[in-house]
Amino acid sequence: MSARILDGAKIRDEIQAELSADIAALKARGVTPGLAAVLVGENPASQIYVRSKVKACESLGLYSEKMEWPASIDTEQLLGLVDTLNRRDEIDGILVQLPLPPQIDSRRVLEAVDPAKDVDGFHPMNVGHLVAGRPGLVACTPAGIMEILRRSQIPVAGARAVVVGRSDIVGKPMALLLLHQHATVTICHSRTRDLPVVASEADILVAAMGRPAFVTADFIRPGATVIDVGMNRLATAGEVRRAFHDAAEPLRKLEAKGSVLVGDVQPEDAREKAGAYTPVPGGVGPLTIAMLMANTVKAAKLRRGSEQRIASRT
Ligand code: NDP
Repeated sequence: MSARILDGAKIRDEIQAELSADIAALKARGVTPGLAAVLVGENPASQIYVRSKVKACESLGLYSEKMEWPASIDTEQLLGLVDTLNRRDEIDGILVQLPLPPQIDSRRVLEAVDPAKDVDGFHPMNVGHLVAGRPGLVACTPAGIMEILRRSQIPVAGARAVVVGRSDIVGKPMALLLLHQHATVTICHSRTRDLPVVASEADILVAAMGRPAFVTADFIRPGATVIDVGMNRLATAGEVRRAFHDAAEPLRKLEAKGSVLVGDVQPEDAREKAGAYTPVPGGVGPLTIAMLMANTVKAAKLRRGSEQRIASRT
């Protein structure tokens, strides 16, 4: 069997085309949704992520601001910046790129973001809405995975779903979204016993662990949909050999580029055993930024909608 490859870039393009129409309609009403991206310090991966997010805003015609702060900033200064952004009307979405430097109280900072502008969906208010199944801003990566499943006609209702990973930003919201779509959901983590046995019961297997090529053939039920969230950068030949079962092409890539990206799923095993599979790169990754854009547009609509309601009362 050879798995159907779920093409994240194609789905991202579909979503962005739909968003463009929404943005044009908002602009016709004089509203340009705006995103502020806060970047603290010099983490190269964070710099790349923020750059791609700002670029995505520009290509969709959204207003964006990149706010760069030195790694020496303290929690109070960052809280002050968030407060300013909360008050600025032209900013609909605030994104604080993680990780923050160790001296910063990340939780305080994330909880200071106005829930109406919390386009990452990390604020406890939005998490609560998600738990209760109420509308709100939902974490981008899990929301993007639901779009992949929906647009690829993968049935979720009644399916047995196993999510490996229980982080606040991927695993937990993922499990809740699948549950709300009527899947029977199991959440696994580092203490789960017999992980391959549990995983191999899944019709939909989501791997969000941050462990290179950890999920091998014995985790995958034949024909299952395998969603690989992991993004692991490998920089040594030993790691690349282990992750790719000694395949020659990744080793050539390592030599040419200095590193190779692999997900949490062994790619050849997924291609051979799964029914459908999101590759790394090109699967889940492109959706995360698309959903950030979607959340910014949604936040703009919700904020303007509520403003109109307030205005009409006065
Ligand atoms: P975290 O490190 O926050 O969480 C990892 C989770 O995996 C934890 O719940 C941990 O369990 C579990 N885990 C780790 N090792 C094992 C194991 N051996 N067996 C079972 N469970 C295990 O990671 P994130 O959720 O933030 O990210 C997960 C991956 O997804 C990373 O590779 C990250 O780079 C990637 N990612 C990709 C995105 C994209 O856009 N494609 C966006 C966000 C993340 P425990 O809780 O017990 O420690």
